[in-house]
Amino acid sequence: MGVDNAVIVRRRRTAAPLVVDCDLCVVGSGAAGSSTAIEAARLGRRVMLVDGAPTVGGQATGAIIDTFCGFYSNGPRPELLTFGIAEEIVRDLTASGAMARIEGRRNTIILYYRHTALQRWIEDALADAGVETITGALPTAIDREGTRLRALRATTRYGEVVVRATTYVDATGDAALAWTAGLAVQEPATETVYGSQNGIVRGIDVAALAAAGGPEAIRRRVVEKAHAYGLERRDAFVYVLPDSDQALVNMTHLRTPLDPLGASRMVIDGHRRLDRAFAFLQAEFPQIFGAAVIDRYGLPGIRQTRWIKGRYQLSVDDVRAGTRFPDAVARCAWGIELHNREDEVHWEGFGDGHVHYVPYRSLVHAEVDNLLAAGRCIDADVLALSSVRVMGPCIAMGVAAAHAADLAGGGALADVDPEALRRRVGRNLGDA
Ligand SMILES: Cc1cc2nc3c(=O)[nH]c(=O)nc-3n(C[C@H](O)[C@H](O)[C@H](O)COP(=O)(O)OP(=O)(O)OC[C@H]3O[C@@H](n4cnc5c(N)ncnc54)[C@H](O)[C@@H]3O)c2cc1C
Repeated sequence: MGVDNAVIVRRRRTAAPLVVDCDLCVVGSGAAGSSTAIEAARLGRRVMLVDGAPTVGGQATGAIIDTFCGFYSNGPRPELLTFGIAEEIVRDLTASGAMARIEGRRNTIILYYRHTALQRWIEDALADAGVETITGALPTAIDREGTRLRALRATTRYGEVVVRATTYVDATGDAALAWTAGLAVQEPATETVYGSQNGIVRGIDVAALAAAGGPEAIRRRVVEKAHAYGLERRDAFVYVLPDSDQALVNMTHLRTPLDPLGASRMVIDGHRRLDRAFAFLQAEFPQIFGAAVIDRYGLPGIRQTRWIKGRYQLSVDDVRAGTRFPDAVARCAWGIELHNREDEVHWEGFGDGHVHYVPYRSLVHAEVDNLLAAGRCIDADVLALSSVRVMGPCIAMGVAAAHAADLAGGGALADVDPEALRRRVGRNLGDA
């Protein structure tokens, strides 16, 4: 066979954007957005899932989080609080050996998961449910007509895309869809909420770590000596991945600005800080980390930045009191975990049996009829959000957003009957 000669092609000056129509356009494919998209597609809706990153999964797969929090209640007999894809992920990843249930810090139950396995699970579940995904797509404008969003315009490496949908879900974590649409969004008035640069260190001597007193010994040494190494964060931890010579290092606190230059600088700054943390580990624990290397830097870990102006703001008082709202759609027993200081973390844990709830109104944007938020950009005050942003409730919010969109059937999302919604998502509230 001969050489296949090249042909010259040229972009047409008036290249038309790709236009797609669907029932539901979900922007953001993390725990919340993937849950929304899969649930809605299984309800028979045509779903487009749009994400600016090259792959789906959001921080759950990209930022080296590697443990699910907020899946279980507290106490001696922990119960699963969230169903939907949460239950399926636990079933499938446990069966394939990619998940382990462990007692977390501060008397909590967490689930370790292998992020590559979760990545593949989400991809397959999206494809099997019939969700169409557009990755590498950044919204540039939203067409609006009165109180309805009509079309999302996005740009990709391969051209422009227009998504015309009946309902939109902002699952970007940073309320990027609401922001692009020029709608009201909120930011912390005074607090700085820090993110983290996580990483994986490979080649640790696990036996030496056990002999030295395990991760707890590292935590104590961080408190004693981290400042001498230029490490600001004292509430830091190293977590050994089950059956491996690898450890997840979560030892940094960094600002997560929302401007293009600041956000880009943050990436290099985060890597430098992780390097400093690793230098500390090697110098202080040469038997454990002497032969180890940094295997992978996660994507920047962003906790809380900007969120929508919803029809109700979940408050820290609601969280502490465990207020059960008539329109509750998700629940959680995870503590208040606010990373508002460079050196420490504000933590308020809850006792056995405590759960708190997320009301549907916190997902509904106050200014338009067909926009919901799900995940870490719903309307909650800074302290309340620091609890309900963990992945268990994010998945439950995604389930609720899908059912609300389905029930609204093109009408105003604020008019969805809370009782009808409760009947759909009751399992996530503990109803029989
Ligand atoms: C360091 C760190 C450790 C954590 N540890 C845990 C833990 O152990 N367990 C736990 O349960 N939770 C943990 N959390 C919290 C949890 O990971 C997040 O709150 C949760 O994953 C948020 O999910 P989400 O779907 O709302 O958003 P994200 O996972 O942030 O997903 C948002 C998606 O939107 C996309 N996106 C954003 N902006 C745009 C845009 N303009 N255009 C297109 N796409 C866009 C992103 O690419 C991303 O895919 C941690 C968070 C951090 C930062």
